[in-house]
Amino acid sequence: MVQETITKIESKLSNWKAKLLSQAGRKIESLMANFFWGHNENSPKIHLQNWQLLCRPKNEGGLALCNVQAFNEALMAKHLWRIMTEQNSLAVSSLSTKYMDNNGNLLAPSTASWRWKSVLKSKEVILSNIKWQVGDGKHININHHAWWPMLRDQQSCHVVADLIQHNFPSWNSSMLTALYDPNTANIIAASPLSVTGVHDKLIWNTSTDGQYKVRDGYKWLLSRNSNGGIGSLHSEVWKTIWSLKLPYRIVMFMWRVLNDNLPANATLVKHHMPLDDVCHACTQQGETLRHILLDCDFARAVWFGTHLGYKIVRAHCSLLEWFTDILHKFRDEDHYVIPFTVVVLHVIWRCRNLRTTEAKFLDPLTAINMIYSLWNSYKVTFSNQYKGSHSAIKTRKHQYWSLADTLPSSGLLIISAKRNFKTSNAGRKARKIVLHIWENNQILFKAVYSLRNHECPHLMNLIAIRKGIQIALNTTTFREDCKIIVFQKKMACLIASEFKKNSKF
Ligand SMILES: [Zn+2]
Repeated sequence: MVQETITKIESKLSNWKAKLLSQAGRKIESLMANFFWGHNENSPKIHLQNWQLLCRPKNEGGLALCNVQAFNEALMAKHLWRIMTEQNSLAVSSLSTKYMDNNGNLLAPSTASWRWKSVLKSKEVILSNIKWQVGDGKHININHHAWWPMLRDQQSCHVVADLIQHNFPSWNSSMLTALYDPNTANIIAASPLSVTGVHDKLIWNTSTDGQYKVRDGYKWLLSRNSNGGIGSLHSEVWKTIWSLKLPYRIVMFMWRVLNDNLPANATLVKHHMPLDDVCHACTQQGETLRHILLDCDFARAVWFGTHLGYKIVRAHCSLLEWFTDILHKFRDEDHYVIPFTVVVLHVIWRCRNLRTTEAKFLDPLTAINMIYSLWNSYKVTFSNQYKGSHSAIKTRKHQYWSLADTLPSSGLLIISAKRNFKTSNAGRKARKIVLHIWENNQILFKAVYSLRNHECPHLMNLIAIRKGIQIALNTTTFREDCKIIVFQKKMACLIASEFKKNSKF
């Protein structure tokens, strides 16, 4: 997308004056940032994240927005590239006589025009990425930017051709060791020589055809500015986020969660907003995003109350690290867990906003109901996409649930079954409980729980059934003819005795 845009803009802007573009660059960027953060004259908004970070590629945690300054620099670098490589053109040769020395190196004389000076600011893009493809060696000056610096000056050789034994093309190793340090001499000696003696050629390292292109220069500048690519460590997380089958505003919400750029009180205080940094749910001082979504008592109750039965461990890791961990735990198990987790986060955040902006205090149970009603509507909307992309899982479940053919065809069914799944690592078995809720032969809900080693399957099965009943109560108005089916004899006895104990049930 960005590349397309760049190509389009490149063709349109190639005639622009350098000065104009460079000044306009900052202005355009600030307008774009204001627009992104919903800023207008009447209600100024805080920019919760640096624009440069938003310009990072999507798999590094950015939004691949246009970094106008880097783009401008990449565009200017194209001029330098032409001056260094296309010396036959008239315009280029007149510039090169003025701004290049005899070795072919770029010069910045104090008398240079403002235009040349501004073009020269982008020289790093070119100089850091060029190298010579050696042909006959006659056009590579030995003191050129893109050739290796010598240990000592000497008069006997001027061009790279002087380092080559031309009768049977090979490097003159005694010359190399005399002029260069051993490491450089080895690198030069290992570079291939042309047998046919073609023209030497300057090539731009990171492109496939050796030609400098504005889009490649732009990419190089972005990666240079991205502090060693911290975001790319989590590229799997970002890929997962962007491929979520959820409404786009929820995907964007999740992107903001993981970049910690939602307006939690602690974040706003950091941006010098005069407000009381307190959580309205539990009155704790210091309302960070992690507190709202995970650590707050309200959030903990919601997480535990969903069918995931998830207990939040209080830790100091960031939301990004927490989510990476969740992704590793669940990615092979049930493809619904990750989008469901995102919906839970979204509802917890909405509840927090209702508290702070409208002073509406919802209880965790209402939040859980919201989660399931949203989840069910998304599931219906996106169900075809889920089916298509996970056919393997579907087949496996289908085989297992062929038992369902023998189930009663009407009424509400809550089905629980313990099952051992084979995992990929060395035949280790993972114990899981599968929970299904059916209404009149239509599936309403399904989930898979993984058992941890120390957890008792019988107890967890009971908990699963309890969740099943809660979910059935939340998702359907059906109240008569409910059956609970447990695919394990022992469990059936246990539940029967539980029923007897609790006559209200
Ligand atoms: Zn709280």
